[in-house]
Amino acid sequence: MEIISNIKDLLKIRKDLDPDLKIGFVPTMGALHLGHSSLVKKAEQECDFCICSIFVNPKQFNSVEDLEKYPTRLDQDLKLLKSTGCHLVFLPSKDEIYPKDYKEKNYDFGLLDRVMEGVERPGHFNGVAMVVSRLFDLVKPQRAYFGEKDFQQLSIIKSLVAQEKRMIDIVACPILREDDGLAMSSRNLRLTHEMRNAAPRIYERLKILRKNLSHNSVHEQKKWMAEQFAHDPLLKLEYFEISNAQTLKPSIDWSESKEHIACIAVYAGSIRLIDNILLKIN
Ligand code: AMP
Repeated sequence: MEIISNIKDLLKIRKDLDPDLKIGFVPTMGALHLGHSSLVKKAEQECDFCICSIFVNPKQFNSVEDLEKYPTRLDQDLKLLKSTGCHLVFLPSKDEIYPKDYKEKNYDFGLLDRVMEGVERPGHFNGVAMVVSRLFDLVKPQRAYFGEKDFQQLSIIKSLVAQEKRMIDIVACPILREDDGLAMSSRNLRLTHEMRNAAPRIYERLKILRKNLSHNSVHEQKKWMAEQFAHDPLLKLEYFEISNAQTLKPSIDWSESKEHIACIAVYAGSIRLIDNILLKIN
């Protein structure tokens, strides 16, 4: 596995690669876990050459404190990537990604970035789009892999690729979970023992909701979820939304779409956890 940290090296390697090779790309912010490596594994299986980037993108953080607190575990990350079959790791600096002459972009994602995460984190998805667009320009992949854990981000990336008319297949990868159902996240390590025991309730509740789908209206389901968290001593609900899985428009009636997505953000103390579940209407 080759490790590089400047654009010049990346462009040289990229140029020397056989143009017929299928390049798979996995962008990350590091502090990697098995959820990330599932993306790398898929890329490695489906492509001839797998490139992974680790870059903590300052433009997608809403507060300096949050950015500064973002965990870094480079040695561990590199071991994991090597064992997963990644061929090339790109570790750019902030100045390489955003040089002095970098022009900020202002994307229009319509409703996609105005709901859910977009409400609480203004500018977040514009920052995500800027870095992904820049990385796509440099890496020039045929396929890029993103986790369904960040369902809204995935919708934004698909829109970005369409807007910029890029010939890149966006591959959605399923959420990897701990044995007790908690969605894997580097933030899970920051949970106290008590919070860690409480956190699987998020997915348990999403599963109950999916099981009872046909018995309740959208409104009743949302009310039920809010009640569960209102009585929860450790988990505080930030938002729970049921939306059209394609447009992210908040659903009013199940008949509006064959697929709805139920997305949730919860606080355990100061730690913010997100999860989602797809709801298919028969
Ligand atoms: P991040 O480093 O948090 O930006 O995540 C990099 C990629 O890994 C994103 O596409 C995430 O959606 C994906 N990812 C993070 N956690 C998981 C998980 N538990 N299962 C699957 N993919 C994940």
